[in-house]
Amino acid sequence: MTLYRNAVRHAWRMIAALVIAVVLVVVVDRLYGHSSVAFAAAIMLLVIANAQMLRFNCPQCGKNAFFRGIFVVLWPNRICTRCGHDLDS
Ligand SMILES: [Zn+2]
Repeated sequence: MTLYRNAVRHAWRMIAALVIAVVLVVVVDRLYGHSSVAFAAAIMLLVIANAQMLRFNCPQCGKNAFFRGIFVVLWPNRICTRCGHDLDS
């Protein structure tokens, strides 16, 4: 399993967590009315799920695969944007 493949798997988990978070907020909103507790729980879920993102660093230069410059993107880089290392090798 390469770093890139692991990072892609993480990206899919994040998409799933995002869908679950949105569904949670919508369902609670429908059943109990507007709830900031449900919203907070959804945010916590996303933050916890995303904490793993920090593990996906380039083995050569340590740059995170999810960063493009100063921006964080949902999908990982296959080629390190700093040193050009192939993260899928
Ligand atoms: Zn690198």
